[in-house]
Amino acid sequence: MAARDYDLFVIGGGSGGVRSARLAASMGKRVAIAEEFRFGGTCVIRGCVPKKLYVYASQFPEHFEDAEGFGWSVGERSFSWERLVAAKEKEITRLEGLYRKGLENAGAEIIESRAELVDANTVRLLADRRTVTAERIVIAVGGRPQAPAGLVGAEHCISSNEAFDLKRLPASILISGGGYIAVEFANIFHGLGVETTLIYRGAEILSRFDGDMRRGLMAAMQAKGIRIILGDVITAVTVDGEGRRVAETGQNGSLVVDQVMLATGRVPNTAGLGLEAAGVTVDARGAIRVDAFSRTSAPGVYALGDVTDRVQLTPVAIHEAMCFIETEYKHNPTSPDHDLIATAVFSQPEIGTVGLSEEEAVKTHAAVDVFRAEFRPMKATLSGRTEKTIQKIVVDAETRKVLGVHILGHEAGEMAQLLGIALKAGVTKDDFDRTMAVHPTAAEELVTMYQPSYRIRDGVRQ
Ligand code: NDP
Repeated sequence: MAARDYDLFVIGGGSGGVRSARLAASMGKRVAIAEEFRFGGTCVIRGCVPKKLYVYASQFPEHFEDAEGFGWSVGERSFSWERLVAAKEKEITRLEGLYRKGLENAGAEIIESRAELVDANTVRLLADRRTVTAERIVIAVGGRPQAPAGLVGAEHCISSNEAFDLKRLPASILISGGGYIAVEFANIFHGLGVETTLIYRGAEILSRFDGDMRRGLMAAMQAKGIRIILGDVITAVTVDGEGRRVAETGQNGSLVVDQVMLATGRVPNTAGLGLEAAGVTVDARGAIRVDAFSRTSAPGVYALGDVTDRVQLTPVAIHEAMCFIETEYKHNPTSPDHDLIATAVFSQPEIGTVGLSEEEAVKTHAAVDVFRAEFRPMKATLSGRTEKTIQKIVVDAETRKVLGVHILGHEAGEMAQLLGIALKAGVTKDDFDRTMAVHPTAAEELVTMYQPSYRIRDGVRQ
């Protein structure tokens, strides 16, 4: 058999692709990685990183208002969208450079081209029309926003891809969806002074989250002035004579806004990738089917991250890449662990969560105790802001094992990260009870809720 050009060829320069290429190259493997857009992937270029920067930007008006209660007088203020976009661009360009440097230092070859599979060991590079061969191929091409099927006028709408780089900040925006992206962007745009409406088909936003988090966040968003339309969808979008978007809805008439943003989920980026030719099978959504070790149906071809539609989160893609390296190059078969993934919604207030929601827990556990606290955060006493923190611990009453913890409030994401360690270690409610509080913090409430707020037995609340 003729020697292949590479030991490993990675398609896609996002979180999962870069990590697998860098680690394999640092072990002395001959590695190439192809990316058609920018290194860093969705997370760095048009996802988590710029999103968090814009969240910070959108929080300042509340900080300025809160300052009054602490004795400060804040003078005239103004906001420049152009300066924010430019500052964001500078930072993600810096991060992109670090990704490239990491790959180069490890000895991986960087290829700026779209890459498509010819067969299970051959890749075609569209930039210079050459083909290369590799012993193993990793597909880590991520996902892309998807408009609702058949939405008339979807081309007049933006997605999160465009939202970061709009030429000017819209005066008003209608956001469709009730998931992470819709909720986070509704808060960002509202904070930046945009008249914001969110339209969601269900009865409560964030369908997979604990009910207290969903209701608490929705109330907080509405209290800030974000309009939330429930049980409805956009049916068509047109453009009027002044360039404004006219969105027809099922039950709420037509809404005229500067921008319509669709945040109705993301689909794997597999179209036109040559998967069929390589013998790689996909599911109905176009996600690459993989086994417990990220192996596809084609021997030697692996898939990681959002393209497999397991859990669409950056740290998960990175973890899957590290498991791939352990399994394939370190003779240590390791399958990714998708249990108890802590996560945050960077809404305002934030949601931090790990483990089962109350609704999920009662489906699988006969006896559930819920410990719940709702209180005004300390900062709000002087700022005068009407806001609530909600903390909730869901416990298996039979074993005392903590099944889930859910927090709505400042820094909830930071708390979720630490709670993730505790739950992963199998923490019980008794461990919480014997932990000394850190005072004065909001998190201390988590270790001082000694009595259940209510009990649920066989699905019935007592
Ligand atoms: P989500 O799956 O979170 O939400 C999609 C939303 O769109 C849901 O509310 C869904 O409704 C709604 N929807 C789906 N199809 C339609 C339709 N045809 N018409 C109307 N509404 C529809 O996806 P996002 O796009 O918000 O985010 C994609 C992924 O990215 C997330 O799953 C998450 O894993 C990741 N992400 C993580 C972030 C974080 O960690 N902070 C931030 C941003 C994204 P329903 O609930 O009824 O199905």
